[in-house]
Amino acid sequence: MLNIMKDKDNHYRNLINGNWVESKEKRYITIYSPIDNAEIGSVPAMSKEDVDIAIDTAKQAQKLWKNVTIDEKAEILYKAANILVANKQELAELMMKEIAKDRKSCESEVDRTADFIRFTADTAKNISGESIPGDSFPGVKNNKISIVQREPLGVVLAISPFNYPVNLAASKIAPGLMAGNAIVLKPASQGSLCGLYLARVFQEAGVLPGVLNTVTGKGSEIGDYITTHSGINFINFTGSTEVGKHISQITSMVPLLMELGGKDAAIILKDADLDLAATNIVSGGYSYSGQRCTAVKRILVMEEVADALIEKIVAKIATLKVGNPLEEDVDIVPLISEKAADFVSELMEDAKEKGAKLLVGGTREGNLIAPTLFDQVTTEMRLAWEEPFGPVLPIIRVKDKDEAIKIANDSEYGLQSAVFTENINEAFYVANRLEVGTVQVNNKTERGPDHFPFLGVKSSGIGTQGIRYSIESMSRPKATVINIHS
Ligand code: NAP
Repeated sequence: MLNIMKDKDNHYRNLINGNWVESKEKRYITIYSPIDNAEIGSVPAMSKEDVDIAIDTAKQAQKLWKNVTIDEKAEILYKAANILVANKQELAELMMKEIAKDRKSCESEVDRTADFIRFTADTAKNISGESIPGDSFPGVKNNKISIVQREPLGVVLAISPFNYPVNLAASKIAPGLMAGNAIVLKPASQGSLCGLYLARVFQEAGVLPGVLNTVTGKGSEIGDYITTHSGINFINFTGSTEVGKHISQITSMVPLLMELGGKDAAIILKDADLDLAATNIVSGGYSYSGQRCTAVKRILVMEEVADALIEKIVAKIATLKVGNPLEEDVDIVPLISEKAADFVSELMEDAKEKGAKLLVGGTREGNLIAPTLFDQVTTEMRLAWEEPFGPVLPIIRVKDKDEAIKIANDSEYGLQSAVFTENINEAFYVANRLEVGTVQVNNKTERGPDHFPFLGVKSSGIGTQGIRYSIESMSRPKATVINIHS
């Protein structure tokens, strides 16, 4: 698969109109591994002219793609899912090097993406329009009927983040394609090799030339140009709140679907099963070193059970393996960049200075940060509010469930929260008051299963993902009204 996408100097190319092409200006961004700084390839820093070609090509190709039958589109997606699984090892290896994710998680990301693609094809085949009788509205006679079908939007710009470079690109591409759109994929620069690989998979599966094009380049350089391009009809973005807000400020009259940052709380009530809570907090907070939008990012625990919970969490953290994902099976991996690790260090220093008690970790070697747990974190500390995107968890002790709800809701974010309790009434009391897209009862915060709705409120996003929801977001109703004159 890889050889078609790059030249002998390891310069990757972009997929434009069914061909793997170089950038006109031949400027490249070198991709280094966060594990050992080894060079793993380079991608074109595309010029505005290259971007114009990618978008114009998509516009033309969409006119053909929208007329391909749903059944034929679905067959292409089933094929893409099979090709993905057949190439799992090669792609997982690339992902491991490019974003320093552990091997098992890389492999499961590929499998989950294949399942996502298949389920998207199945779902699109089962979406039907509706016919609405006119006479249910007051004053309308029995002579009107609205036939409502779904239409594609045109060209969807899919912008994906570094942390799930395959899954969060496919979760835009597959529903977008099934809805009849053409896609321009702008992958995260660190993660772009995986993004290009995924594009190659769809190409191999038979997506028509021009229907899926890729654009590589630094978001800070070409981002504004692409997002405000007149050829884009919809933007589907996953990434930081900072960039998401920027895009929403500079665009106009283009619908947006955004999955942004989070500060997901795990709320532990007095009657919670503490073993279950500790297991979920540790896997939810530390897997992939906390670089997940839905990672548990703060623990709000009732004072009465705080010590007992902490003892269990500390014991579980001690079993986490820290190190190099290329060498062994590890849980805690180097963060995506030195800059990301510097930010986590800043938050840890701030907490320490303001009196938080360091229980575990707190150490760093380059961009590898040990799993860290702070107790006695207060709302004065940055760690109570900011998203570290690293393996650092704050414990905030609270007197009752209402204080937990208040602190949870005082966050600018509203992605998910978890509540641990054995009492269904308590679970609903808390869940009904939390300002988030999803509340998990007795489980870690997490995305999926992928046909569930997935959304963030406040600074965590706009619009709703989830397979059927994503297809609907990337299409619109079109009404044809039959007027019967007899
Ligand atoms: P990021 O820095 O915001 O980058 C996300 C994407 O936006 C990348 O492709 C990036 O390209 C691009 N970009 C940057 N500046 C741009 C601009 N001005 N215009 C258009 N695109 C631009 O985020 P990240 O570091 O990759 O991902 C981590 C963040 O994503 C965290 O905050 C996390 O919570 C969030 N996230 C949210 C979800 C969710 O579902 N809610 C899921 C995963 C991640 P470059 O790489 O070239 O800069």
